[in-house]
Amino acid sequence: STLIPDAAGATPAMAQWFAAKAAHPDALVFFRMGDFFEMFFADATTAGEVLGLAVSHRGEHGGRPVPMAGVPVHAMEAYLARLIRRGYRVAICEQMETPEAAKARKAPAVRREVVRIVTPATVTEEALLEGARPSWLLALAPEGLGGGGERVGAAWLDVSTGHVCTESLPAAELGALLARLDPAEVVAPESLAAGDALTPLGGAVREAVPPRDGARLAAEAWGVASLAAFGSFTEGETAALALALDYVRGASGGTLPRLAPPEPRGGEGTLRMDAATRRSLEILKAERGGKDCLLGAVDRTLTAAGARELAARLAAPLAEAAPIAARHDAVAFLLAATAVRAGLREALRGAPDTARALGRLSVERFFPRDLAALRDGLLRAEAMREALDGAAGVPPVPPLLREAAGALVPEASPRAELSRALAAELPARLEDGGVVGPGYDGELDALRRLRDDARGAILALQMDLAQAWGVASLKIRHHQQLGFLAEVPAAAGEALLRQKPAPGPMAPVHRQSMANAHRFTCGALTDLDRKLSQARDEAARREAAVVRHLRKLCLDAAPGIAAAARAVAELDVHAASAELAAGGGWCRPDMPERPDFCVTQGRHPVVEAALRRNRGPAFVPNDADLSPGRRLCLLTGPNMAGKSTYLRQNALMVVLAQAGLYVPAESARIGLVDRLFSRVGTADDIAGGRSTFMVEMTETAAVLNAAGPRSFVVLDEVGRGTATWDGLAIAWAVLEALHDRLRSRTLFATHFHELTALAGKLPELAPAAMKVREHRGQVVFQHLVGPGASERSWGLHVARLAGVPREVVARAETVLASLEERARGLDPLSGELPLFAAPGREERARAAPARGEGAQPAVAPDPLRAALEALDPDAMAPREALEALYRLKSIL
Ligand code: ADP
Repeated sequence: STLIPDAAGATPAMAQWFAAKAAHPDALVFFRMGDFFEMFFADATTAGEVLGLAVSHRGEHGGRPVPMAGVPVHAMEAYLARLIRRGYRVAICEQMETPEAAKARKAPAVRREVVRIVTPATVTEEALLEGARPSWLLALAPEGLGGGGERVGAAWLDVSTGHVCTESLPAAELGALLARLDPAEVVAPESLAAGDALTPLGGAVREAVPPRDGARLAAEAWGVASLAAFGSFTEGETAALALALDYVRGASGGTLPRLAPPEPRGGEGTLRMDAATRRSLEILKAERGGKDCLLGAVDRTLTAAGARELAARLAAPLAEAAPIAARHDAVAFLLAATAVRAGLREALRGAPDTARALGRLSVERFFPRDLAALRDGLLRAEAMREALDGAAGVPPVPPLLREAAGALVPEASPRAELSRALAAELPARLEDGGVVGPGYDGELDALRRLRDDARGAILALQMDLAQAWGVASLKIRHHQQLGFLAEVPAAAGEALLRQKPAPGPMAPVHRQSMANAHRFTCGALTDLDRKLSQARDEAARREAAVVRHLRKLCLDAAPGIAAAARAVAELDVHAASAELAAGGGWCRPDMPERPDFCVTQGRHPVVEAALRRNRGPAFVPNDADLSPGRRLCLLTGPNMAGKSTYLRQNALMVVLAQAGLYVPAESARIGLVDRLFSRVGTADDIAGGRSTFMVEMTETAAVLNAAGPRSFVVLDEVGRGTATWDGLAIAWAVLEALHDRLRSRTLFATHFHELTALAGKLPELAPAAMKVREHRGQVVFQHLVGPGASERSWGLHVARLAGVPREVVARAETVLASLEERARGLDPLSGELPLFAAPGREERARAAPARGEGAQPAVAPDPLRAALEALDPDAMAPREALEALYRLKSIL
């Protein structure tokens, strides 16, 4: 049953509402009624739930009361922000005329129109945006026949800053693009919107068909004859671009914000990382359970735009040597030139978000503070230019910094003009008046003088009237509807009413009686009132014209201002990276083109920061060496020993280095990586209802199908999701494939100690182990990686640590010894499938006698023993160990 009934029989205003709703069925309609935006029917119920508004009723429709909820106009942004964050879209249906105007033309209701659709990716308001995050709108379109196979054109743009990129990519890489951009909204035709990659985004996906004449529409939007002016775009990229423009235009009532020229091939030359890798490495956001991410740990930027730029760099590190080296050069320079860095950071601190202010200006939804932001932002940029100019000399300023310095001060900068024009104290809204200061515009000054004169004249008239009417306490007050009135106390008022005054400009005319006062006007007062309101209106009109002029000045200079804003953001990132490195313990990675990887005393920046914050033990740095000849590292060690930290820290080295930052190590040589894969972290976290093992295998498959000799692979506990022998077999085969076929640099952590036997067979496999020490019968994790395999299972020690009673642990030790005894002498590498002959679990125990190994101690079919043997202490959390213990006890 629909919650929105038929429009038939609606009142004139409600008929407008029905029309607006019919045109925008997937949006909540904010329907302007005086000082409120009202929502009706199902919209009211939704808003009631999401915003916690009281739902009341307004009149009836079809014999039923109409549910209604409203928000005051002045508070609307806060409500919009909450709705947008929850993924709703809102159609703003405004009053397009005053009630008086409607009355004058004898209309049954004020004319209303949907002027704008507020959607997550098309907002420009400060309150609706996250300062440190770009707000991407991603549009997708299938490549035409020329696209070759399953390819997709993508265009993404940030309306708030005007940044636009496109890329043509294999459909299979859509998930990676989504993970990289984390778009606020996606528009795509149905064929793509319904696909696997987009479904997880749920309500953020809108279905729409790309406009037919895409190439022409896109070219027109940028005022060029052909998009070729900006580079070459595929059919799909062009269609996606046109789709994005269409969507933005539809949302903002037909206008387009200022957009920088589109940059084709937005993804080329970047380090490829799929969605699982990003989740595993927690680059821009922490995953379930965690608080900290890489960005949070390394971000020393001082501006929102700088934070966005840093996030963009970490999300899309580079993959080519020269541009990476250029960034490292900039950081190195600023690390050494402390005075320049200090000067830059001084200018950056508190600098406004110029790019977004410019965006708001371009869509005409701006505030006086946006003009001030441009003025101040450009002023800060000038200060930064000075700081950099001061650095000229030896050593030479590296190219990236020189380029940024060149862009900081746009040729036709409106900065001086804005400085002269804007008042010292700015009002919150343009319509409050007082945006333009005195001395900038002669005409405005003159009109304001007139206005002030009229104000003074009214004060003078107050004295004159008090004398003429003989009422010393007479006060002239302003009344909202009646204008200026002379107010006298009740008794004096009665006296005036009884008099028959001589006609003239000062003769009192009664207007209003109240309990203790009477209000009068007179010819002179009415005259002045009219003069004053005229002067006020004219001053306001003139000020609006001056503001329009200032806006135009800024928009004419927009490309230069945008370039300056970009330069500021980039300098912020470089200076922040230098600042981070200046803290000590960070180094510039050496980045050869060959597949090398050698890190000494590396650290995990996020874990290190967390330990420091919690005043925990110091982080233990570790080396990693995957240089040719030892490209695969097989890491063993018990749980909690620091395996995943070690794995992730080395993957993060690659991200940081190729993003152009220094890395947390004493020294690092990182051969360029083309694709980075990380599969660390429990698959249950990401399974989301699917079979954990299926997810694990799907993600392992993705690595095996895409990794190559220039890739870097980090795998944790492959095969943990299934029965031990399956798991071991899979891990074994994966390791062999990585070694022999893919030849990627690989860190492979496992709790299958059996795998260390592979070291003798795979020449490039180097075993390593987390060092664990026993101290007074307790396990001490040293978090230190050493060569060789971890010599024994520490599961029993963990069981002891967890409080498993002494006699159970002792019994388990006996069982373990017997199992190890039986395994000894079996070479897992001899024979066709020798590994699987190694007994160790109950089914093997049963199978063993069948093979006629009579020398083995017979294993009695003891349920307690069987249960104990089925336990894998290495894979147990302390809590699970405790539960297992209860289970064991119950078997007794
Ligand atoms: P595993 O993957 O072996 O179970 P983790 O990598 O999750 O172990 O590490 C467990 C805990 O040990 C971490 O939360 C961290 O507090 C600590 N840790 C790990 N590596 C180090 C290190 N190098 N120095 C200090 N503490 C560490």
